[in-house]
Amino acid sequence: MAQIVRRAYKYRFYPTPEQADELGRTFGCVRLVYNKALEERTRAYITEGHRISYMESSAALTRWKRTKELAFLNEVSSVPLQQALRHLQAAFAHFFAKRSKYPTFKSRKKSRAAAEYTRSAFRWRDGQLTLAKMRDPLKIVWSRPLPLRAQPSTVTVTRDSAGRWFVSILVEETIPPLAAVKTQVGVDVGITSLLTLSRPVNGLTGEDGKVPNPQYERADRRRLVKAQRNLARKTEGSANRAKARLKVARVYARITDRRRDFLHKLSTRLVRENQTVVIEDLAVRNMVKNRSLARAISDASWRKLRSMLEYKARWYGRQVLVVDRWFPSSKLCSACGAQRESMPLTVRTWECTCGAVHDRDVNAAKNILAAGLAERQNACGAGVRPQRESSRTRQPAAKQEA
Ligand SMILES: [Zn+2]
Repeated sequence: MAQIVRRAYKYRFYPTPEQADELGRTFGCVRLVYNKALEERTRAYITEGHRISYMESSAALTRWKRTKELAFLNEVSSVPLQQALRHLQAAFAHFFAKRSKYPTFKSRKKSRAAAEYTRSAFRWRDGQLTLAKMRDPLKIVWSRPLPLRAQPSTVTVTRDSAGRWFVSILVEETIPPLAAVKTQVGVDVGITSLLTLSRPVNGLTGEDGKVPNPQYERADRRRLVKAQRNLARKTEGSANRAKARLKVARVYARITDRRRDFLHKLSTRLVRENQTVVIEDLAVRNMVKNRSLARAISDASWRKLRSMLEYKARWYGRQVLVVDRWFPSSKLCSACGAQRESMPLTVRTWECTCGAVHDRDVNAAKNILAAGLAERQNACGAGVRPQRESSRTRQPAAKQEA
């Protein structure tokens, strides 16, 4: 059955000076409204034990706009301000449902600058997008086409720390399911390589089933370390420091962008070519207390990859199984099932008493696959949760980029 999904398409755009100014002021107002409403909610909750509703926050916004001090809120589109209140409402709903921590203030420096426009606040005509309070359409770089006859329902404008502008366009899309296949694959998170698959995949892995860390990253990381060192030497508050910070942000953005593209390709291939993909619970990574940059990037990638695998599997009618983090995937022989007492990280290949010679990671990937399939047979398998949605991986459809 074809699935109707809400999917976000993200593009870079180049604002005119007037647009940049309008958006900059809108970001500021969004942040102010969010923080002010949060402050009021906190006060009401602490002093009166009262939970302020979205409607009350919205009424308060109307009052603020009538005051002299906050009259400037009227100068920007009202929709992003209302959306900020809705986001705050959602943050509180998550908090009260114990899915996330208490909402925090948005800081000018640390928070992502964003403004969300719903249908009434933008015009979509002849493939041109014009936001409220603007005369000209946005100059968007259409790096890939929107689906034919797509009708955007929400448009989110952001500016990242590297100073780049993006617009994310949410559309409804019908995705036909893929024809069923028999192949299935286990995925192990590697130490020397990004990941290792239980069987090699043409064009994606080497003959050993390993997906190497992308080549370009080593050079990029060196550049990042250099830029960070340079930043540390600059005087607080100086113009040179601001410049150095931007440089760090640019290099970092480049690394994460290329990583994301790579993970999209990887997850799409894995989901297209396999009926079932078995992965390890990512919490296992937290046990490795290694704060290196490489590790941090690798951890973030793993979270991203898992979420991509899960939503793409839903789109295409595939299955993702998650094996419990305590499963001893590297200590088991995938040939005979014998379990070793210990398996130090330094051991890359080993020979079992049954005679089988294993690459550590390939063996682990095979075990992960076998464990996932075995637990699926067990209707009430304790160690495996088919497409479990934890609070960490749950994403609103709006956040799913393809
Ligand atoms: Zn064996």
